[in-house]
Amino acid sequence: MDCLFCKIAAGEIDSKRVYEDDRVVAFRDINPAAPVHVLVVPREHVSRISEAGEEHAELIGRLHLAAGKIAEAEGLKDYRLVINCGEGAGQSVFHVHLHLLGGRPMSWPPG
Ligand code: AMP
Repeated sequence: MDCLFCKIAAGEIDSKRVYEDDRVVAFRDINPAAPVHVLVVPREHVSRISEAGEEHAELIGRLHLAAGKIAEAEGLKDYRLVINCGEGAGQSVFHVHLHLLGGRPMSWPPG
């Protein structure tokens, strides 16, 4: 499958990796939108969060728990977790990922 994040998770494309375990990989975003901008990605390919099923419930939880560990390691007390689902919401890579953003004030609503 020709998927950028599958290749990054497999180590076939370089990334600045900050975390990994048996099911999750996390690396710095190539075009950061905040001083800390990490993408938390499942090793398993799921194209978008709306494609996740009951069988992915634990995996989705793992993404969030990994993000919390990374935030702590990065020294973030306040941070934002974002999943863009679909082009209209800003999704550009169709392999589910959680954005961890921090290190600057965050406004609401997001753009
Ligand atoms: P999204 O727009 O929610 O699908 O997020 C995709 C993110 O992947 C964007 O923030 C991009 O900057 C980031 N990105 C694209 N290519 C790479 C790459 N090779 N390494 C790290 N981040 C990337």
